[in-house]
Amino acid sequence: MIRYSVLGSGSSGNSYVISYEGTSLLFDIGFSLKEIRYRLARTNVDIASVNALFITHFHPDHSRGAGVFARQTKKPVYVHQEIIEAKIPELLVLGIPEHLLCGFEPDSPVMIGPFEVSAFPTSHDSPHSLGYSISVNGREFLLLTDTGRTNNQMKEKAKKADVIFLESNYEAKMLEQGPYPRMLKKRIAGEQGHLSNHEAIQLLSASSDCNGRCRRVYLCHLSKVNNSPEVLLKRLQELPILDAEITVCHNSIQYLDEIS
Ligand SMILES: [Zn+2]
Ligand SMILES: [Zn+2]
Repeated sequence: MIRYSVLGSGSSGNSYVISYEGTSLLFDIGFSLKEIRYRLARTNVDIASVNALFITHFHPDHSRGAGVFARQTKKPVYVHQEIIEAKIPELLVLGIPEHLLCGFEPDSPVMIGPFEVSAFPTSHDSPHSLGYSISVNGREFLLLTDTGRTNNQMKEKAKKADVIFLESNYEAKMLEQGPYPRMLKKRIAGEQGHLSNHEAIQLLSASSDCNGRCRRVYLCHLSKVNNSPEVLLKRLQELPILDAEITVCHNSIQYLDEIS
């Protein structure tokens, strides 16, 4: 059985874990180590048994705990190779020991135990930001958050995936009429910002292939100010996705499931 969990999502912290036969991979760590230890324990994963951490990008809600994680667990932290070469301040400030930093290129998959992890570029205002596709035991996972735009590569990955963690950050009208300053609104809705409810649903709809398979979709990273689970659920009723079982993730709640 493959066990997986949305340990948390949203601006207060993002993290996901996937475990299979004693190997566990962590994706993003936007929490303190104490918090992540606690959330992992709820999924029956001991932090000491996590084999590696993969980072999508270096905004604190995704990378906050990476330095402490590496120093305490001595486990590798995978990031885009160019991030290491560029020595960006957001990376340096975390204090990840150099020998634990593993750089990789989007087109070269990394094998860890039964897992194969590939990365692909996202469109976000953080250098070399990534999404991940993960294969294990014949199943495909897709992690796609923090992207202002989607493309055909993402659609193809969403089509093949059995489990999708997908950003659904804001409702366009709520952002437009909400309290954020104009520049911030522009940033969020821009090419290097975040995915709206409409865009997330469009991606699912465009990658729907109705071959009898049902994808499990976790819509996550909802803005507390410019979105709400109720509004997103309403949107989903307007354009139902036939081949997806959808969970709308509340920021503070942890979601745990398994798939054979
Ligand atoms: Zn971000
Ligand atoms: Zn984020």
